[in-house]
Amino acid sequence: MANNEESRGLKSLFDWFANRRKSGSTSLERQEREIADGLWHKCSKCGVLAYTKDLKANQMVCVECGHHNRVDSDERIRQLIDNNTWKPLDEHLRPTDPLEFRDRKLYSDRLREMQEKIGLIDAVKTGLGQINSLPIALGVMDFRFMGGSMGSVVGERLTRMIEQATQRRYPVVIVCTSGGARMQEGMLSLMQMAKISAALQRHKDARLLYIPVLTNPTTGGVTASFAMLGDIILAEPKATIGFAGRRVIEQTLREKLPDDFQTAEDLLLHGFVDDIVPRTQLKNTLTQLIALHQPVLTTPHMVLWETMSLTSTAAE
Ligand SMILES: [Zn+2]
Repeated sequence: MANNEESRGLKSLFDWFANRRKSGSTSLERQEREIADGLWHKCSKCGVLAYTKDLKANQMVCVECGHHNRVDSDERIRQLIDNNTWKPLDEHLRPTDPLEFRDRKLYSDRLREMQEKIGLIDAVKTGLGQINSLPIALGVMDFRFMGGSMGSVVGERLTRMIEQATQRRYPVVIVCTSGGARMQEGMLSLMQMAKISAALQRHKDARLLYIPVLTNPTTGGVTASFAMLGDIILAEPKATIGFAGRRVIEQTLREKLPDDFQTAEDLLLHGFVDDIVPRTQLKNTLTQLIALHQPVLTTPHMVLWETMSLTSTAAE
C-alpha cells in the first residue's frame, strides 16, 4: 500500500516535470520564479522559508531562530518613528569627489552608480520625528550604500542633526551600521569622526540624551567615534561590532580568535555595550529610556502607561 502510494507520488512528480518541460515557456517560468522569490524569504541562518509579508510584519526578524535580517534606512525609520511625524533633514547635501579618487573606477562614477541603484544620495538618513509621541532626532545609516561608509555627507548630516537636537533639546538616536570611514575621501572622511564627536559633546554639555543602536555590522571609524559615545549604548542580537576586522587581527596577533569575538553578546559581557535589544522591542525600549530621561513631561503617567506597560509593582 505504502509502496503503491510512493510509486504513485513518484510518477506524479515525473509527470509534473514532464508537463512543465512541455508547457512552460522560459520567460513564463522566470516570471513565476521572480514572483516566488519576492513572496518567500529563506532565512540565511536556519534555512526556514517564511512569507516575506510575515517577515516584514516581524520587522525582518526570523520567527523561527530570531536571526535579524538587515533592514534599509527607510524600513528602519518606519519601524521606529510614528506615522506622519518624520521630517527629513539636509536631503540636499550631496557627496563630491574632491580628491578625484580612483581605485578600480572613479569615485564619482561609483557614487553615481550607487545613487541610481539604491535611490539614496549617501549612506545616512537624518531627521526629526516622534517615537510613541516623544520628539527625537534620528539618524539611520544604510549599509547598502557603499557599506554604510562614513564620508563627508554622512558626517555633515549627522553633525547638523545633532546640532538641531541640541537647539531643540531633543534626544538623539543613531542607528549605526558601517564598514568604517570612506577611504575614497581620505582625510576628509576621517575628520568626520572628530566633527560628530564634538557635536555630541556639546549635546552632552547641554545635559541631553544620546543613544546609539549598534546593528550588524558596526565597525571601523564609526565604532571608533559616535557609536561608542552614547550615554546608553544598545545593540541588536548577534551584531558584529568592532574596529579592525577579525582577519586583520588574527593575522597581526597570529592567534585564532574565539567564535564570539566582536559579537554584541561578547561586548555586553565586557561592558562595551549596555544592553542587547531585539528589534521587535527596540521602539518601546527607546521610548522607555527617553521618557525616563525627560526632565519634564506634560503627561508623564499617560506616557508611561501607554507606551511601557509598566508592571503594577513598578507603578506603585
Ligand atoms: Zn531563521
